[in-house]
Amino acid sequence: MNIHEYQAKQLMKWYGIDVPNGQPAFSPEEAARVAKDLGSDVVVVKAQIHAGGRGKAGGVKLAHNIDEVKYFASQILGKKLVTHQTGPEGKVVNRLLIEEGSHIEKEYYLGVTIDRDSAEVILMGSPEGGMEIEKVAAETPDRIFMEHINPAVGLQPFQAKRLAYNMGFPEKVAGKAQKLILNLYTLFVEKDCSLAEINPLVLTKENNVVALDAKLNFDDSALFRHNEIEALRDESEEDPKERAAAKASLSYVNLGGDVACMVNGAGLAMATVDIIKFYGGEPANFLDVGGDSTVEKIAEAIGIMQSDGQAQSIFVNIFGGINKCDVIAGGIVEAAKLVGLKIPVVARLDGTNVEAGRKILADAKLPMVHLVEKMEEGAKLAVELAAKVKEGA
Ligand code: GDP
Ligand code: MN
Repeated sequence: MNIHEYQAKQLMKWYGIDVPNGQPAFSPEEAARVAKDLGSDVVVVKAQIHAGGRGKAGGVKLAHNIDEVKYFASQILGKKLVTHQTGPEGKVVNRLLIEEGSHIEKEYYLGVTIDRDSAEVILMGSPEGGMEIEKVAAETPDRIFMEHINPAVGLQPFQAKRLAYNMGFPEKVAGKAQKLILNLYTLFVEKDCSLAEINPLVLTKENNVVALDAKLNFDDSALFRHNEIEALRDESEEDPKERAAAKASLSYVNLGGDVACMVNGAGLAMATVDIIKFYGGEPANFLDVGGDSTVEKIAEAIGIMQSDGQAQSIFVNIFGGINKCDVIAGGIVEAAKLVGLKIPVVARLDGTNVEAGRKILADAKLPMVHLVEKMEEGAKLAVELAAKVKEGA
């Protein structure tokens, strides 16, 4: 789960990390009021969306008086920002962060994430701040410094010291930088983050080390023990289909294509995404219905997949183990009754109760449902059917 920059900064502040003074605002008037209270010579007006790259897209503006604050606020609110992280469809801005401007001496990069190869938390620091870190990693990888954290002992002070040195902090602020690195690591671990990123982390002309930007992602699987984080959720930033699926306990990821797939088991779901690609299609989603499917859950999944017109066909690829094929078939029939099948469904069922499942579908005589025997055959047909719809449009 993602949260907004202003929320991430509040959390960082609680963990002793220096951030600029500021408050969120939802209208130009509120923005002006916050700016007046701040009383600084420069005020920064920042779009709050769950994506970076806002600066280049016009979502971060420096204002020199209250009229400018109001003007920039009215320009940015309601605007659709398209950045390298939003995808081409962009994100509409509904909130702003109004904060006091900092006098930047130098920008740095600092990030904490999990290194899946070593299965350890990893700290990454770079003197190349304020730029896309992916670009730095690709072009000048020697400018990124890493510290692997042994989970048994946690981040050691010497590591924080080494990282601050490598990042190039001047001697007089090295102590502040080290403390900040330790604090960010503590936040990452205590709040079960999957990513904590400060880009840029800045050295100010007043010799402070300040988080000018803040990004925190949280491990969804650990949210059950962090009600305080769950409370920060902004549903308007999330994919409505992913939200609906999460509520129905379906494991669903939107992939943007037009061949929807409904599968049981994460391994088969990945194989299904692959085989759709193999036959020249674009998967609309990854969907694992899990091992405890009910007719209602299957019907709900089909409803979600055809809710917004993105998918043009649905490939149901089920290998019945704990899941039973007759339950899946019943779900398809139920969905046809409840929400109607608006797009063709290709069903390949195998495993537990397969004969009963096939019979339920055959007896229902649903014109939109194509029953197939093999996974290859089903993937091919689902891709062809989606392509046909596209040609027809
Ligand atoms: P992003 O583009 O979404 O990553 O947004 P950032 O919060 O990183 O802001 C983009 C850029 O705006 C930063 O890299 C800074 O160069 C600049 N910026 C942000 N806040 C300030 C500030 O208080 N003073 C100055 N001078 N520049 C700022
Ligand atoms: Mn940034």
